[in-house]
This record gives sequence, C-alpha cells and structure tokens, in this order.
Amino acid sequence: MSYIELIEESKIYQMGETTITANDKVTFAIEEGDVTVILGPSGAGKSTVLNILGGMDSPTSGQVIVDKEDIAQFNKKELIRYRRESVGFIFQFYNLVPNLTALENVELATEIVKEAKDATQTLQEVGLKNRIHNFPAQLSGGEQQRVTIARALAKKPKLLLCDEPTGALDYETGKQILMLLENAARNEKTTVVIITHNSLIAPMANRVIRMNDGKVTSVVDQPNPTPVA
Ligand code: ADP
Ligand code: ADP
Repeated sequence: MSYIELIEESKIYQMGETTITANDKVTFAIEEGDVTVILGPSGAGKSTVLNILGGMDSPTSGQVIVDKEDIAQFNKKELIRYRRESVGFIFQFYNLVPNLTALENVELATEIVKEAKDATQTLQEVGLKNRIHNFPAQLSGGEQQRVTIARALAKKPKLLLCDEPTGALDYETGKQILMLLENAARNEKTTVVIITHNSLIAPMANRVIRMNDGKVTSVVDQPNPTPVA
C-alpha cells in the first residue's frame, strides 16, 4: 500500500444556487519518501487537495488514506493531532510571525512537538546560521522561505506539503529552496508534495500528477528524476 491514497475524493462547494466541484473523484497514490509534484493551472483544484491532505479541510466524499488511516473519517480532535504530529506546511507567502525572530518562529512551531529537532541546528542546516536573531522583515524572500522550511522540518514531519514554494522567489533562490525540499525527501525520508502551476518544477519529482478542472488528467512516474542542482 502507498503512503497516501486518495480514492475518488470529491469536494463540492454549495453556494446558494451554484455548485462548485473543486475536486471531482480525484484518485492517485503518493509513495513514502518521494517528491510528488501536483501540476495544473489556477482553479484546477490543487489547493483543495493540499488542504485535504493537510487535514485543514474534509472532502465531501471519498477516501483519503494516509499511513493506512482514512483521515477523511477523522474528527476535529484527531485532525488537529494529525496536523501537529505528521504534517509540515510551506506556503508561498511565508506566514511567519512578524514580531518573532527566525529562531522564535521555529521554536513556536516546535513547542508542542514531542521529539522536535533543535531549532538553532535546523536553521543552520537551511543556511541561516547568521540570521537566527533577525526578524522576518530583516530577511530576504528566500531567507524567509528558508525559515518556513526550518519551521516545518524541525517538527520532523512525515509529510511536507508545499504550496507554490518558489512562487514569490527569483529563479536562483527558488532553486535553493527546491534543493532543501529534495534533501528532506532524500535524507529524512520525508514525503514531499508540491503543488504548483510552474511546470519547470516537474523534472525533480518522482511522480507528476496533472490536474485540470477538478480532475486528475495524468499521472507520470519519473524513475530517474533530475536533481535540482
Ligand atoms: P487551485 O489551487 O488549483 O488554483 P483550488 O483548489 O484553489 O484550485 O480551487 C478549485 C475550485 O474550487 C476553484 O473553482 C475555486 O474557485 C473553488 N473553491 C476553492 N475554495 C473554495 C471555497 N472555499 N468556496 C467556494 N469555492 C471554492
Ligand atoms: P493559496 O493557495 O490561495 O495561495 P495559501 O497558500 O495562502 O493560499 O493557503 C492555502 C490554505 O492553507 C488556506 O486555506 C490557508 O488558510 C491555509 N494556511 C495558510 N497558512 C497556513 C499555516 N501557516 N498553517 C496552516 N494553514 C495555513
């Protein structure tokens, strides 16, 4: 069995008279320790999939198997525990707490985690050794994104969910960020899922899942992914 299996997962929004099908019987699998890229244009349903995988939202129907458990059946309390213990999030717009330093931002995220990594060490690993006492506003976009990666990795999550992680960054900085994600998969066996509309990110993936109009349109395995480098 794969680490993640979505089976006919649908998410339907009812807005008065209008019905919006954000996910339409989405079925795919994601393997443990892989980098998986979910590719598709705006409105394809990618964020909906990511929110559901992260336990931030529940599907209207279907199964969402993560590590042999159907998280679609989890109650609120179980979802909170799942998010805290198993999932790290990386978003396009960093979401750092502005009045906390880089170090404090990472510490805040790991406070409630039992076997968290040392915050200083994790920041060092993402190349921010000399920036740990800086506030987000004193950091470049790439540095802020590295803080969010440190914040996620310090939790030692089994699953790392990334929403356009290079979206706000220039090409070179984006490449550094993708290398950190690649290393997390390779060295820590973290399962990395990246949603993006940018097809340039696809070569690094072990599996590329394309979505359009709420549906999966193709799944392609890449047995020899191209390292970011
Ligand atoms: P993507 O991330 O690929 O851009 P989304 O998952 O954000 O796609 O959105 C898929 C569709 O679902 C879009 O048509 C979007 O407008 C709709 N949608 C997403 N979230 C909501 C919501 N909370 N209420 C109503 N419609 C939504
Ligand atoms: P978009 O996909 O439109 O760019 P975001 O990436 O900002 O939107 O957020 C996607 C979803 O994740 C939203 O539902 C948002 O509420 C949620 N979210 C954003 N930041 C965090 C965070 N730090 N922790 C948990 N959930 C978040």
